[in-house]
Amino acid sequence: MDTHACEEMNSAFDIAVSRAASDIHIEHAADDIVVRLRVNGLLSELKRLPTHMALPLFARIRQRSKMDTIQTRAPADGTFSVYAHDQLVSARVSVIPGLHGPITVMRILYSRTRATLDSLPFSPLLRDAVQGALEKNEGLILLTGPTGSGKTTSLYAMLDRLNTPERAISTVEDPVEYQVPGLRQVPVTPDTTFEKALRALLRQDPDAMLIGEIRDRVTAAIALQAANTGHLTLSSTHTNSAPATISRLLNLGCEGYDIAVALELVIAQRLLPVLCPACALRGDQREEGETSHYDADGMTQLETHWINKNNLGRYRTQPFARASPHGCDQCHCTGYKGRIPIFSAIARSDAMQNAITAAAPEGIERAARQQALYEPLIIAGIRLAVDGQIPISALMQMQSVSTAVDAQIDTPALIVAATGVEETNQ
Ligand SMILES: [Zn+2]
Repeated sequence: MDTHACEEMNSAFDIAVSRAASDIHIEHAADDIVVRLRVNGLLSELKRLPTHMALPLFARIRQRSKMDTIQTRAPADGTFSVYAHDQLVSARVSVIPGLHGPITVMRILYSRTRATLDSLPFSPLLRDAVQGALEKNEGLILLTGPTGSGKTTSLYAMLDRLNTPERAISTVEDPVEYQVPGLRQVPVTPDTTFEKALRALLRQDPDAMLIGEIRDRVTAAIALQAANTGHLTLSSTHTNSAPATISRLLNLGCEGYDIAVALELVIAQRLLPVLCPACALRGDQREEGETSHYDADGMTQLETHWINKNNLGRYRTQPFARASPHGCDQCHCTGYKGRIPIFSAIARSDAMQNAITAAAPEGIERAARQQALYEPLIIAGIRLAVDGQIPISALMQMQSVSTAVDAQIDTPALIVAATGVEETNQ
């Protein structure tokens, strides 16, 4: 075994895990081997290695992933566990033969990333609403947002709270993202479809269940049926806002009355990039050689226009912060450090139930605005921007993705093109 290759692998994993990277990409380019990390959704180069390292390095990866080490000309998948930066992580490895040599992507799966309810930055009102809903014996709790908005994390934090020996909890997911002792987790397969698994599970009469995603009329109907017949039911949808989730269920053909009776809580969620506190620029602060045009409030003309267009001028009480274009050591030169979720929720109320039963979208929106709990996502986001935690540009980006989610309801292909992300149940 080539010890140098081993060291390079271990060092890449150490750095990747210390930065909470989601993937390590290693590919044989024309003149060298490029190692890149994906952190907070952004890919950046970690290092380049000389080509003579290629053979031992890729052999090491294939061997550890238990791939065929003789037949190396076909795409292959594998997994292995590694101890890196003081924790055990799993790597899901995919190797594809490229023009110059193997292209390897290693997805890092962290066992410790499951959040608890206490670790989520809920407002006090939302925390009470979530706890109240989780104490019920039946009803529907929905998380909504685009792919990669952290819905699964929040749903699992709720399951974590419910997961006691006295409760039978079942999940149906495609795929199962976190394996949790105490839960009966059912992955969707060609034989065990969502519908078959859900119908079978209902006959087993669990106390609580997670339906990975409501994606069509059938799963929506089963979710409502479960929620209305003595099962606390958690699920997710792909919509733009909490009120839009109810409209989505109505559009899928669910009866307003069934939704009104079932629905306990709808939470819309997004993940926004957090500015590195060590190097974020405030107001009219400039970095040497910076050419962009920022005003004294740290905003570009485009951002000012966006603030005015969205009637957010009243939040412009102090200069906004923005990412340093060059970053610093602490953020590995990205200007950002981690991501933070924002939430917008609506709960059961008489006015809400009446509006849902009447299947009136304007009434639903109005009933939402009457709730002290409710504030639109953009308001939750601008609070963080005022606080200097996120840049205005992150909110603009969030809104453009939301617009794409709206479009998705009619044309599913659009969202993929607009966000450029693969479809995973996150
Ligand atoms: Zn920094």
